[in-house]
Amino acid sequence: MKLTIIGCSGSVPGPAAPAPCYLVEADGFRLVLDLGNGALAALQARISAFDIDALAFSHLHPDHCADFSALAVLRRYHPQPPYPPEQRRLPVFGPSDTARRFAAQYAPNDAERQTTDFSTVFDFHPLTGETVQIGPLKVTSALVTHPCEAYGFRIEHDGRSLVYSGDTAACPALDGLSAGVDLLLAEATWTDLPSRPADMHMSGRQAGQTACRAGAGRLMLTHVAPWTDPEVVLAEARGEFDGEVLLAEQGRFYEV
Ligand SMILES: [Zn+2]
Ligand SMILES: [Zn+2]
Repeated sequence: MKLTIIGCSGSVPGPAAPAPCYLVEADGFRLVLDLGNGALAALQARISAFDIDALAFSHLHPDHCADFSALAVLRRYHPQPPYPPEQRRLPVFGPSDTARRFAAQYAPNDAERQTTDFSTVFDFHPLTGETVQIGPLKVTSALVTHPCEAYGFRIEHDGRSLVYSGDTAACPALDGLSAGVDLLLAEATWTDLPSRPADMHMSGRQAGQTACRAGAGRLMLTHVAPWTDPEVVLAEARGEFDGEVLLAEQGRFYEV
């Protein structure tokens, strides 16, 4: 399983990276996790947007899904798609309200019903917190702690495992999802100040503690906000977790 960092800037796109987007590849299958602001441009620098096999959204904050609208335009209106759209609807996994919210995000193109019909190009699947098979990948979602319906993902293939926290505070659901994982891709939005709001995001320290409790193989920090010093976040995590700790680096790929 290969993980490529398409975007890793937390909360907003930053000067060095788009907002979150991760490409997971195995056996030639391509799963994209989140598609934040600016991510579609960076993704197309790697692969054709028509070569995505499935999309999964952790939650519907704009820094994780804003570029869905751009992808919708590309897949519906590209004058020479490599296949007729109706022959390949892209599976999209996300929170319960994903289909309605994405239609609303787009200007309605059905004046009578005041809505947008994506059914020819996308096939929406609400996440349930259960395990689903997406191509060759076994994907387990779990509801995590964030101000909206938000999921973390555990992705397994060929005896290896990757957990993506999505956006979350430290929580038992993330601990459960991460137990014994090979690579924990965990958000660390900010530094560990007691004044930070509860139930929203993790600090580097909390991401390190999560990796430690889970017995993770490696910890990769992501979603560091542009106004946060990544070196401080990294040092916090290293103070809590004895294994290897990395900062997700824009454009790099990693074998899981
Ligand atoms: Zn976010
Ligand atoms: Zn969020």
